[in-house]
Amino acid sequence: MKKRIGVLALQGDYLLHQQTLEKIKQNGILVRTKEELKSCDALIIPGGESTTIRKLALENGLFDAIKNFGKEKPLMGTCAGLILLAKEVSDSKAEETLALLDIAVKRTAYGRQIHSFVQVGKVNLQNGNPNFEMVFIRAPKIVNVGKTVERIGFCDDEVVVVRDRNLLGLSFHPELTADTRIHQYFVNQFLN
Ligand code: GLN
Repeated sequence: MKKRIGVLALQGDYLLHQQTLEKIKQNGILVRTKEELKSCDALIIPGGESTTIRKLALENGLFDAIKNFGKEKPLMGTCAGLILLAKEVSDSKAEETLALLDIAVKRTAYGRQIHSFVQVGKVNLQNGNPNFEMVFIRAPKIVNVGKTVERIGFCDDEVVVVRDRNLLGLSFHPELTADTRIHQYFVNQFLN
């Protein structure tokens, strides 16, 4: 049976994730309630504004549900989603996160002038060309990586893609280019 891949649809760039999943013939389900989450085999937390996504998730009881979901089921977080997955946010006003992925991130850390930029980095997708066009929008920087966490993507000298067990985290927005390989990688490596 076709797997159901949830996309957390509280705020941010969820529709484009759903469209990317459609492009690779996957079933993308918008998730706004605990019941919808329960029906999914995997979840994507999109980019957007981490504080807003967190607030809305807390308000409708999804925060703890996602935390439990992410203890075993495949979960991909991009940009704001990565911030929510991180165990540690180095920010004086840091709020509690899901604390699932053993990394530390710094919010909006790529400099004030260049809040957003596009650059070709490299991701080890285990087949073929590692070059990947990466769109960074007020992106978090991964500033520390725990022992069990694998670094699989780089842009200049920065780590921008990590994985650990059932978790995949990216500091850029893979749904904003026509390249579907990150979503395909998530499906192949985490859902089968
Ligand atoms: N800086 C944003 C935050 O703190 C993340 C930006 C993004 O997701 N594009 O949530």
